[in-house]
Amino acid sequence: MTETVTNWARNITYTAGELHRPGSLEALRALVGGSFRVRVLGSGHSFNEIADPGADGVLLSIADLPPVLDVDTTARTVRVSGGVRYAELARAVHAHGLALPNMASLPHISVAGSVATGTHGSGVGNGPLAAAVREVELVTADGSPVSIARGQEGFDGAVTSLGALGVVTALVLDLEPAYEVEQHVFTELPLAGLDFETVAASAYSVSLFTDWQKPGFRQVWLKRRTDQPPAHFPWAAPATEALHPVPGMPAVNCTEQFGVPGPWHERLPHFRAEFTPSSGDELQSEYLLPRSAAVDALNALDAVRETVSPVLQTCEVRTVATDPQWLSPAHGRDSVALHFTWIADTAAVLPVVRRVEEALDAFDPRPHWGKVFTVPAAVVRDRYPRMADFRALARALDPGGKFANAFVRDALGD
Ligand SMILES: Cc1cc2nc3c(=O)[nH]c(=O)nc-3n(C[C@H](O)[C@H](O)[C@H](O)COP(=O)(O)OP(=O)(O)OC[C@H]3O[C@@H](n4cnc5c(N)ncnc54)[C@H](O)[C@@H]3O)c2cc1C
Repeated sequence: MTETVTNWARNITYTAGELHRPGSLEALRALVGGSFRVRVLGSGHSFNEIADPGADGVLLSIADLPPVLDVDTTARTVRVSGGVRYAELARAVHAHGLALPNMASLPHISVAGSVATGTHGSGVGNGPLAAAVREVELVTADGSPVSIARGQEGFDGAVTSLGALGVVTALVLDLEPAYEVEQHVFTELPLAGLDFETVAASAYSVSLFTDWQKPGFRQVWLKRRTDQPPAHFPWAAPATEALHPVPGMPAVNCTEQFGVPGPWHERLPHFRAEFTPSSGDELQSEYLLPRSAAVDALNALDAVRETVSPVLQTCEVRTVATDPQWLSPAHGRDSVALHFTWIADTAAVLPVVRRVEEALDAFDPRPHWGKVFTVPAAVVRDRYPRMADFRALARALDPGGKFANAFVRDALGD
């Protein structure tokens, strides 16, 4: 079977001649064992070549494997296939009265693909989605299964792994009792005098949005757990209509606002599972830097906003708690995440991405692994103090580099 496969944003066409969809674990193991180079495609929501095996490689989808979604209500865990998307996972978990600690802005993404790139939501107390993973089950280069659990050697490299260790067939995630969330949206928060620490901690999950057409934030989204103190936000005015973070897009695509309490999985993502998330016609970039630098970094962006705003749909500011995963962009530091939804025009966007990277350079930014960036690989590498440990783990599990495409070889410096 030969087919052209693109990512969700359609800015990347994978060069592999074939997309394989094994229907059983045995077929998957045989395919991996007999292939020269392999990359797995999750739900294809990354914006760069991270999933591309190259012309001599095999692109693999695990979406046709028999799905696993085993909730253990006593242990409060779920064992889930890597290809399952968060929307389906969340519904199953919620049906058992349980919940995930956090979600990204959209529930359309696969679990294995999301944690592989350090995907995150927001909240000063919330790590990335990988923080909930307690065990990873892999098919490694010779086709044999390996599982690595929290506390075991190598685990801190095994979750946010860029797909470089093997095919993640299943993961075990920690759960907690189900909870409700209210979403409150405010408008026009000034940048001048911003007390970022207080604002970012004013609810369980906080996002600031701006188009950088003027200083300050057009929208603030607070997601308050109803089992936590009421949201207090005196710095901006409550929105008078339901809003979409991208100006001009329909708010019906977004999760319920105006403080109506609802299940965690219908409030923590910004976008509803049954609609196209975000604008649908876009590129994205994102940089994580120490949270203590948030105000200085926002002022640095404000200084280049006339360059940024013409190609920007929206910029979102979130927080991510420090993460032990060696390749997590939030590794070892409480982070602020500065995200950009660009127009879908690579030629127009790339020079602006470079300008943003220059503006943020002094703050030691780590680019999101799944989004567009131009920071040289050697510079990115130096921003990960445990990169050598990850490289050693990758060599131990995949000595021949079967799972290392050009993106991974660059990232690891191999
Ligand atoms: C509209 C939109 C909104 C987004 N919002 C957020 C957000 O709120 N927060 C955020 O942090 N990011 C966000 N992202 C980025 C997105 O979460 C990441 O790109 C994520 O990796 C997507 O998961 P995926 O399954 O589509 O991965 P893919 O793009 O398919 O793959 C990503 C990587 O994971 C590897 N991989 C996938 N499955 C497996 C597997 N089973 N075994 C081994 N390796 C595997 C791939 O080889 C590749 O290296 C958003 C993207 C879009 C398009």
